[in-house]
Amino acid sequence: MVRAVIAIHGGAGAIARASMSAEKEQHYIQALSAIVTSGQTILAAGGSALDAVTEAVRLLEECPLFNAGKGAVFTHQGTHELDASVMDGRTLDAGAVAGVRRVRNPVLAARAVLENSPHVMLIGEGAEAFAFEQGLEQVATDFFSTQARWQQLQRALSAEQMVLDHDGAAQTSGDPIDPENKFGTVGAVAVDLHGNLAAATSTGGMTNKQTGRVGDSPIIGAGCYANNANVAVSCTGTGEVFMRSLAAYDIAALMEYGGLSLKEACDRVVMEKIRVLGGSGGAIAVDREGNVALPFNSEGMYRGYGYVGDEPSVGIYREE
Ligand code: ASP
Repeated sequence: MVRAVIAIHGGAGAIARASMSAEKEQHYIQALSAIVTSGQTILAAGGSALDAVTEAVRLLEECPLFNAGKGAVFTHQGTHELDASVMDGRTLDAGAVAGVRRVRNPVLAARAVLENSPHVMLIGEGAEAFAFEQGLEQVATDFFSTQARWQQLQRALSAEQMVLDHDGAAQTSGDPIDPENKFGTVGAVAVDLHGNLAAATSTGGMTNKQTGRVGDSPIIGAGCYANNANVAVSCTGTGEVFMRSLAAYDIAALMEYGGLSLKEACDRVVMEKIRVLGGSGGAIAVDREGNVALPFNSEGMYRGYGYVGDEPSVGIYREE
């Protein structure tokens, strides 16, 4: 029997230890540990990888430390547009939503698309109408707003830049990173006791993005992919580059067709191919044997994993 395991991320970027207070760091560590533990509990009870990753991403969306769900970045127009996806490696079923503005938990909308729609991806108002028909919670469009994100948009506007969420504070304020701001897309991957794999990803996207811009996170094969034959992957980083490289699927393809190990495939994509195209970020991946890889080419990535029966293991910076 496979050793069930879940891995999560809360975004990658220029996360400098020097600019992070011990207290803030503790908050991140505790949040990551608690969410890994929730996933482990589902897996230990014989729950599916699909349920474990959906719940982990829902908790990451709810956690005010991470930029998915509440605390999402602002578009150029001062609104929020959220993207999410989920994939079941057992059936290769997938669901995704993009550009939703009033769904409290975009990952639950993606899951509903996977389960109850003949389609794979719904966008904008159509996605919202579907989510509400499915009984998902509706919130006001300013539910996701926070002061920190608003300030980040003002800095980006005055610098006339579109800013990647996880590098946003660094690029706009001149700081290595602003620990008061929340970073990054969130995601989870898992293999359950039955050997089934699943992946889920959710994001607010990029600060000062144009309305209607969609990144890699809800694109199956780019920011999210799962196949029981080899691997489950969730990505974070420069969305346009991850889309152009089909990063998540490329990791699976290198394993399936190229015979690369999980680590070799992840390193090839994240440390080489993404970099060559000028992208930064990382990925989390779990293979069918329960091996875990958490590669990133940026300074840091909020991340954690836990095998059933073990203590969660979490990290932020490179050297861990
Ligand atoms: N990949 C996300 C996007 O481009 C951003 C992130 O990972 O922080 O929307």
